[in-house]
Amino acid sequence: MNSTKTIDVRTGVSLAEFTTLNIGGPARFFVRAENESQVSEAVAFASAKELDLFVLGGGSNILVSDAGFSGLVLQIALKGVISEPAAGGARLPSEPPVSIDVRHQPSASADGSDRDNISLSVQAGEEWDEFVAYCVDHDLAGIECLSGIPGLIGGTPVQNVGAYGQEVSETIVSVRCLDRITGDLAELTNSDCGFGYRTSIFNSTMRERYIVLSVTYRLQLGGEPKIVYKDVREYLENVSAGAGSVVTLRQTRDAVLQIRRAKSMVIHRNDPNSRSAGSFFKNPIVNKEKVADISLKMNTATVPHFIVDENLVKIPAAWLMESSGYKKGYTTGNVGLSTNHTLAIINRGNASALELVGFMTEIQSKVETDFGIDLKPEPVFVGFD
Ligand SMILES: Cc1cc2nc3c(=O)[nH]c(=O)nc-3n(C[C@H](O)[C@H](O)[C@H](O)COP(=O)(O)OP(=O)(O)OC[C@H]3O[C@@H](n4cnc5c(N)ncnc54)[C@H](O)[C@@H]3O)c2cc1C
Repeated sequence: MNSTKTIDVRTGVSLAEFTTLNIGGPARFFVRAENESQVSEAVAFASAKELDLFVLGGGSNILVSDAGFSGLVLQIALKGVISEPAAGGARLPSEPPVSIDVRHQPSASADGSDRDNISLSVQAGEEWDEFVAYCVDHDLAGIECLSGIPGLIGGTPVQNVGAYGQEVSETIVSVRCLDRITGDLAELTNSDCGFGYRTSIFNSTMRERYIVLSVTYRLQLGGEPKIVYKDVREYLENVSAGAGSVVTLRQTRDAVLQIRRAKSMVIHRNDPNSRSAGSFFKNPIVNKEKVADISLKMNTATVPHFIVDENLVKIPAAWLMESSGYKKGYTTGNVGLSTNHTLAIINRGNASALELVGFMTEIQSKVETDFGIDLKPEPVFVGFD
């Protein structure tokens, strides 16, 4: 644990401004923690006062209730100490920019076969996309398809952030946490984290137990970009010199950013469609018989789906919503669907959490009635009973 500065406990802090939806009432108590000692101190404060504690990252995957949060909101702002020089294995071409605070570790395996891999430990309060940009700039492959996703490093293992055929679980080596039950530090390995589609132990079996302090990612120096997603492949085919030309990490990042911007999936203050929590519903995973049922019901042979395993398939939530009548731009009062992306519920200005929940429930009920599928929201609900 570093530093001993005591925490500054504020009261009645409006949470809306800390969320990308820009919705939500006040936190009864609010602490911004800039180092591990302050995290521990905040946890002790909450425990002594028997307060619920909510860990806030970049607020890009939460919906805060209009009443706010009656406990302590702990904002993670750990940027910490930097850079240990590599003692062997691959080396970074240069030091990270000041804004990115990483601890750089060699990751060569005993037989040297891992020598092109570089492990970077990044503090939980760093911006995720700045880290992605840093890796791409330094020819480090493994997270390039995750460009443009808002939020902080500490949020990435929580729902196993993923996009365009890549997930952080493919590169996370370990997660350093504070265990709220024991008060001890814990170093969880990748397999300890129980990663799955938009899930991990942090948002399921061990919800609210761990506070993520830093995450170690293993990237491949000089590795090739992962181009598996149709949209990305097609975009790159159009802009590159044609089949056979080598696609760089930079081109892949640029392609992903362009595709995301067209869907308002990159936050921009001048884009009202980006006032969202990203995709609001998870793509449901169902038995493959369900596809045949829907196909019969809709009288169509083309129900889009992706094979998960021999029994299960994933159906795009956006397709289900559109088939139930909820198309891009559908609105009700101050909330609606983005005009660029069916799956994003947006705050069209002064929306309340109550309105948004009403809108969400309306969509869920219709999809349930039409297809017998319960759409599960992706964002975390804060301050709701
Ligand atoms: C425009 C837009 C596009 C998006 N696109 C994608 C996408 O393509 N793929 C995707 O997976 N997600 C996407 N998201 C969702 C979101 O950006 C990610 O889930 C992100 O990782 C959340 O991080 P955060 O720091 O904002 O977490 P927050 O929203 O602050 O918190 C989310 C959850 O994580 C917990 N948490 C946060 N930090 C910590 C910590 N240090 N320790 C313990 N728990 C913590 C919180 O308690 C909460 O339960 C998008 C969101 C938006 C607004």
